[in-house]
Amino acid sequence: MPTVRELGEFGLIERVARLCPGHPSVIEGIGDDCAVVRTGNRVILLSCDLSIENVHFRRATATPEDIGWKAAASALSDIAAMGGQPLCCLVALACPADTDAAYIESVGQGIADAVSDCGAALVGGDTTQSMEGIVLDVTVVGEPVEGRYLLRKGARPDDVLGVTGRLGLASAGLHALTHGFDAPALARAHRHPVPRIAEGQWLCRRGDAHALIDISDGLVQDAGHLAGAAGLGIDIAPEALPIAPELAAYCAAHGLDPLEFILSGGEDYELAVALAPDDEPDARITVVGRFTDEWTGVRVAGKPVQRGGYTHFA
Ligand code: ADP
Ligand code: MG
Repeated sequence: MPTVRELGEFGLIERVARLCPGHPSVIEGIGDDCAVVRTGNRVILLSCDLSIENVHFRRATATPEDIGWKAAASALSDIAAMGGQPLCCLVALACPADTDAAYIESVGQGIADAVSDCGAALVGGDTTQSMEGIVLDVTVVGEPVEGRYLLRKGARPDDVLGVTGRLGLASAGLHALTHGFDAPALARAHRHPVPRIAEGQWLCRRGDAHALIDISDGLVQDAGHLAGAAGLGIDIAPEALPIAPELAAYCAAHGLDPLEFILSGGEDYELAVALAPDDEPDARITVVGRFTDEWTGVRVAGKPVQRGGYTHFA
């Protein structure tokens, strides 16, 4: 039996998925940003996200409010990735018994702020002791708007790849925080990501969006999920990638390549969408690539790349 490291995050999820048979209420099970489940004549979207101290966050580089905000924002982003509207959240929390209660209250404030910012309600959770470190698990329930949602699968050959916002800021922010460099805008992007709920719903309303994902693990990896789910390849055009001025300045000052952060850095929580090619351009989206049925995998400027980005257990 291989170890979890040998199997990797996605190999492990595949094994777990084999233990989950279909069910009449389940429209989409494991494999997308949210599960899609039928309840009566309604459809709900479900996801959860774990945040573990010293894996996902460090107390030295974030305030407790930031830690709570980000734990909730990363879970809420999976509703954005379906084009849905968050309805309510549950928070499971564990910490060592000698943790300062005011600190945990501030973590809770950060969670509550992110949840209410999306128009959702915090309705419950669970609290226990941990032997080491803070553990936060945020479960979100959402619903499609006007009955529509977008999956990771659905990209068509010759669709273009569009992204919202600017990429690479969050991972450059982590770089700055771990190296002790002063870069407030980048640090803020790392600590305080904003789930793109309105953008997801807007993309969903457009008839020409075919597939959607949030960029939690880096553009190469997440665009690769869109391509893989459709059995297609994706070619990313590096010259089309928007480079935020703060990222350009930071990389120039420290001899770094902004493309590294943009292509492989995670936790931006922007959205990546497959759009019909003859689309009217819109200021909210930058076209950064094209899907093809001539090959599979991810290429950057026509050159095959390994799926960069973050995977657990590596
Ligand atoms: P995301 O980055 O959008 O949070 P993940 O890469 O974490 O998505 O997960 C991919 C898919 O695998 C999702 O559909 C998720 O619900 C499912 N998944 C992850 N871990 C487990 C698990 N332990 N048991 C069942 N399903 C899981
Ligand atoms: Mg996701």
